[in-house]
Amino acid sequence: MRQFLTSLLALACAAMPAAAQTKVLRFHEVITEDGRTIPQGVVVVDGDRIARVAGPEIAYPSGAQVIDLTPYTAIPGLIDVHTHITYSWDSTSGTDPWRQPRKTPAQTLAGARANGLQMLAIGVTTGRDLGASGYYDIALRDSINEAGWIGPRLFVAGYGLQRARPPYRPGTDTTKTMRGRVFNISQIPEAVKQQVDAGADYIKLYGSTGTGADVTGTETFTYEEMKAAVDAAKSFNKRIAIHSYGPQGGRDAVRAGVTTLEHTIDLDDATLHDMAARGIFYVPTIDHNRYYAEYRAIFHYTEAQAAGLDSFRLRNMETARRAIAAGVKLGMGSDAVFNMFGQNTRELGWFVKVGMTPAQALAAATVNGAEILGMSDRLGRIAPGYYADIVAVDGDPLQDINVAIDKVRWVMKGGAVVVDKTK
Ligand SMILES: [Zn+2]
Repeated sequence: MRQFLTSLLALACAAMPAAAQTKVLRFHEVITEDGRTIPQGVVVVDGDRIARVAGPEIAYPSGAQVIDLTPYTAIPGLIDVHTHITYSWDSTSGTDPWRQPRKTPAQTLAGARANGLQMLAIGVTTGRDLGASGYYDIALRDSINEAGWIGPRLFVAGYGLQRARPPYRPGTDTTKTMRGRVFNISQIPEAVKQQVDAGADYIKLYGSTGTGADVTGTETFTYEEMKAAVDAAKSFNKRIAIHSYGPQGGRDAVRAGVTTLEHTIDLDDATLHDMAARGIFYVPTIDHNRYYAEYRAIFHYTEAQAAGLDSFRLRNMETARRAIAAGVKLGMGSDAVFNMFGQNTRELGWFVKVGMTPAQALAAATVNGAEILGMSDRLGRIAPGYYADIVAVDGDPLQDINVAIDKVRWVMKGGAVVVDKTK
């Protein structure tokens, strides 16, 4: 692991100064968006942006560095719209990830940084992180953007808003909201403002129970409270994601005008119809329950809990199938925590299993992700003016989505080569 990180960093550092030089990338094929392809496509990169996308006949700019990727197909950098990047875990520690010894701030940030490198290694160049404590998500984002750290582009939420529930610890001041915990509806705008003031890009609200092996979906905020959060987010020009495992919270989040609905199963037809009509995205995060069930030993989950995770996943798949049929747009969200980083894109496999074409699955992880972030003019496409976030894969992901999941060979983020497994 350490060797892998060191070589990634060394490679990225070596690549950074050259980001200013014009680069010509030659591919077997370039998939620009929604499955459109350019055979023998060439991408010209100037600084951190794409300058041109063309066929093999174009004249290369003089002095450009030519990078031969002709065995590979180019796809846009992938976007995971649901991570918890600050939740790290050392798999050699023998600890239960949910019950590890408390980390120092430096250890928390180092773990988050390692998770980010795992994302880059599988072609995820952008992440929306939906809930972190201590604003380590903001520190990581800024270190990547401003201090030269290697990592994905991050859009982060700070503390997710959640209802504080009694019994409270002695001395708890219920007249104030802190760390995302709200005691009553009047505190919701202040809780949103605290995240915005800290530097959050996005607002997250936990609208129901459900996490880890707990797949209960009991609504924890009412429609009126969700609406207050949506309105507060909008007043700061922010988008908002609402977590709900259960359909009641999902329906109320949609009525309240949420930007993206996370996880929800068993959504009724009227709500799906409403989502399609209003352009509300569904981020089903099907794969994270596969992850918890598969790694139940490290979490010490029982067989019964694993069975609960499996049955939730099946209902999640059925809901995604119905959402796709109803014309709802989906985003690729892994809900990655701990050692699920590096598996973020397995969600695409489920998308194809429930009825998407591979091109539609890729769109969910590129153009849809960009739209969720309000970055449709800069992210999610291989097109002039867009960030040079480009992934080279070995094979045709439009024939087999597993190519995009398992066969990433080279990754460029913002014009710098951050992963190179071509040699
Ligand atoms: Zn989550």
